[in-house]
Amino acid sequence: MQKGIQMSSYICEKCGSIENTALGGYWKNLRDKKPVMCSECNFGNWHGEFPKEHWSKYGVKQLLEWEKRNDGSMINATEYFHRKGLV
Ligand SMILES: [Zn+2]
Repeated sequence: MQKGIQMSSYICEKCGSIENTALGGYWKNLRDKKPVMCSECNFGNWHGEFPKEHWSKYGVKQLLEWEKRNDGSMINATEYFHRKGLV
């Protein structure tokens, strides 16, 4: 498996924190056809592998730039901000 795919970052649809696909329950959410959420929203606890940060710490522009790199830095910023009416 490609590292970039396994270790992608995404924004939690519920609380807006930046989470990792390997830790947050991302694939389970997709499988269940639910909004993608972070470990805390999915399982009740933040995993503690890295600090929980809200997307607004980086801002819309930065996150969209990361997504454009297509390297897994960010995978759902466009979708998330569209849904929130921010882009
Ligand atoms: Zn969350």
